[in-house]
Amino acid sequence: MDGIQLEGLVIRNYSGFYYVQDDDRNVYECRTRGKLKDKIVTGDRVLISLLEEGKGILEKRLQRVNQLYRPKVANVNMVLIVLAFEKPNPDLMLLDRLLFLTEYSGMRPVIVLNKCDLPGDDRIKLIREYYPKAGFDVIEASTKQDVGLIELQLLIKGQIAVLAGPSGAGKSSLLNRLGGQTSVRTQEVSEKIGRGKHTTRHVELYPLIEGGWLADTPGFSVLELPRIDRSEFVSYFSDFRRYDKKCHFANCLHYKENECGVKDAVRDGEILELRYKHYYSMLEEIIENERCY
Ligand code: GDP
Ligand code: ZN
Repeated sequence: MDGIQLEGLVIRNYSGFYYVQDDDRNVYECRTRGKLKDKIVTGDRVLISLLEEGKGILEKRLQRVNQLYRPKVANVNMVLIVLAFEKPNPDLMLLDRLLFLTEYSGMRPVIVLNKCDLPGDDRIKLIREYYPKAGFDVIEASTKQDVGLIELQLLIKGQIAVLAGPSGAGKSSLLNRLGGQTSVRTQEVSEKIGRGKHTTRHVELYPLIEGGWLADTPGFSVLELPRIDRSEFVSYFSDFRRYDKKCHFANCLHYKENECGVKDAVRDGEILELRYKHYYSMLEEIIENERCY
């Protein structure tokens, strides 16, 4: 085996071992050399040297596109923001916060409205009406009645995705239904993911039936806003951009300014008023944070 190197994806790291899967779906149990210690997390692409059967040494970490810190996972492309039709009712403030945090982290958000077998109230109606129009993917799903799951599989194909959203919305049910694991294994996952106190434990990537990966630990366990400049913050609200040409000031924050195209659009019902209110309160948080620099 001496001298054979190959590239793979770290799908799990546990007790000093890194489990690396190559493109042919072989998994190697690897150790690191000193200088790479603590520098590699689940989701990293790495170069390994093969040792005896099934074992290897991590030689190099390949370029990392991004990283989530809590939980620690690298190269996530997609965040499934899972809300429920009911139980719990959807929280649109949480939705807007997660949409911002996802885009700020350089990942693509997908809004999953789970439990579509339940009636849902006006909040679901608002999400359905506004967010697709605003350019977001919205998928209605039911893990109970097998709705939307194929659509989700196809979206995640080729991606590394994490689930986010409130407890009880159906994240572990989705992981179980989307991952093609044996029932014993998914049962364990279901128990693990359901327990909040285990949020700092290691992350494992589960292969999906159609290809692609889903992390077994919810993303964004901390919802704090980053310390960024207010003008950068506004740039993440792509649905406001259509209206900001009518703002008097080129760098309008759509905040206290007069002659604001975005505020006009809110008044005319073009921009969802609730979303604007959430933007406004997050902006105040960002401004407050600027003072602490
Ligand atoms: P998590 O906390 O986000 O991981 O949510 P779980 O996956 O543990 O689900 C919470 C509860 O919602 C469980 O009792 C599930 O059986 C239930 N549940 C999950 N998906 C659905 C669904 O599509 N429809 C209905 N009616 N209940 C669901
Ligand atoms: Zn404006």
